[in-house]
Amino acid sequence: MKPRLHVIGAGLAGLAAAWAACRAGTQVVLYESTGQAGGRCRSFTDPLLNRMIDNGSHLVLGINTSVLKLGQSVGATLSPLPPALDFLDMADGRRWRVGPFNLPVGWGEILAALMPHGDKSVAQTLGQTKGFRHFWNPLCLAVLNTRAEQASATVMARVLRALLKAGPAGFQGYAFPKGLSADLVEPILNQLRRNGALIRFHHRLTAISQHRLTFGQCIENIEDGDKVVLALPPWIIDSVLASGYCLPTETIANLHFLLPLPVSLPGPLGLVGARSHWLFVRGDIASVTISAAALPIDAAEIWGEIAPVLACPSALPPHRVIVEKRATLRHDAQSLTRRPGPTTPLPGVFLAGDWLASPWPCTLESAVSSGLTAARLALGRDDLRFS
Ligand SMILES: Cc1cc2nc3c(=O)[nH]c(=O)nc-3n(C[C@H](O)[C@H](O)[C@H](O)COP(=O)(O)OP(=O)(O)OC[C@H]3O[C@@H](n4cnc5c(N)ncnc54)[C@H](O)[C@@H]3O)c2cc1C
Repeated sequence: MKPRLHVIGAGLAGLAAAWAACRAGTQVVLYESTGQAGGRCRSFTDPLLNRMIDNGSHLVLGINTSVLKLGQSVGATLSPLPPALDFLDMADGRRWRVGPFNLPVGWGEILAALMPHGDKSVAQTLGQTKGFRHFWNPLCLAVLNTRAEQASATVMARVLRALLKAGPAGFQGYAFPKGLSADLVEPILNQLRRNGALIRFHHRLTAISQHRLTFGQCIENIEDGDKVVLALPPWIIDSVLASGYCLPTETIANLHFLLPLPVSLPGPLGLVGARSHWLFVRGDIASVTISAAALPIDAAEIWGEIAPVLACPSALPPHRVIVEKRATLRHDAQSLTRRPGPTTPLPGVFLAGDWLASPWPCTLESAVSSGLTAARLALGRDDLRFS
């Protein structure tokens, strides 16, 4: 039998590993515990709203080259956002725009943000600056999903350096106009199927040894020459490998409101001085993102914030609240040093996932690049690429 690559977990890391191996001619078997691929990046039909919604609004930047190349290789749809992002201060109604050529902070602050900061937090390094409220704090929440008092200034500096190095193309934002599943996940699955990959939903890995994968009652033998990529969250890796990673996580809350009247919002609107952080409109759904969200979330309170912005009546419309309690790692200085590499004590078994050691915070980019790395290691093929 031809050696196979078993990929466990069909989030973006697992999909990337599977696709990288599949397009290189390897027989891939992809296993997923749920009935759907995409993991933390997925769409579903909400019965209450009777609309297809995403678990959370996702954006990708031009610096996320692994995601863009993966997307291109499968025919995904990533549509460019307006070149600058609009912001609104809910306290005083002030509006401003942030783009590669109009950053609302001076070079002194940018240089301070770019410096190496060791274990310091974003609040310790930038909390006293003029631009903290209107730029550094929203940037920190959006990029690191961690409150500035805890977020690592070193990781934020890394992202900022990558942005400045890449220039305007790196700042360019992209969204998924028809939704995460239709625009990103389904095109990858279609290519995998077309290229002979076997996809097994409702397969929850419960144990692994050198020669066997156990999915509850179902056993899959790992034959000689087969390799395995575990594209699973850290708490599942802890349970099957007794690895003890136990990394702290942060919540992201998304609220989707069925709009009572037509509203046009061409790109995401950043909100400052409110519980809501980002407002998106797609069709007749307005979606609010709250990063590093403190619970509970009161939908009426959030609608009360955004209804005037959208010029909508104050009566609370039908809505759905989605709280992803383990949306990303908490990007503080301590947990970052604990993000492991892709190898495991089991020969031929590798890890993938956004939470592994990476120059990037937990994002689609770190997930996809970790999947590519794991496929390269598993197949011993440094040349695997998406383009
Ligand atoms: C609300 C929200 C908003 C976000 N916004 C952005 C954004 O704007 N931009 C951005 O770049 N990133 C964003 N992210 C982060 C991004 O979604 C993640 O970094 C990425 O999806 C992680 O992919 P992954 O494959 O590493 O993990 P996951 O997506 O968690 O994939 C793991 C998969 O393994 C499966 N699984 C779990 N246990 C088992 C088991 N025992 N056996 C088999 N399968 C199992 C899961 O069901 C899942 O499908 C956001 C995340 C959330 C939650």
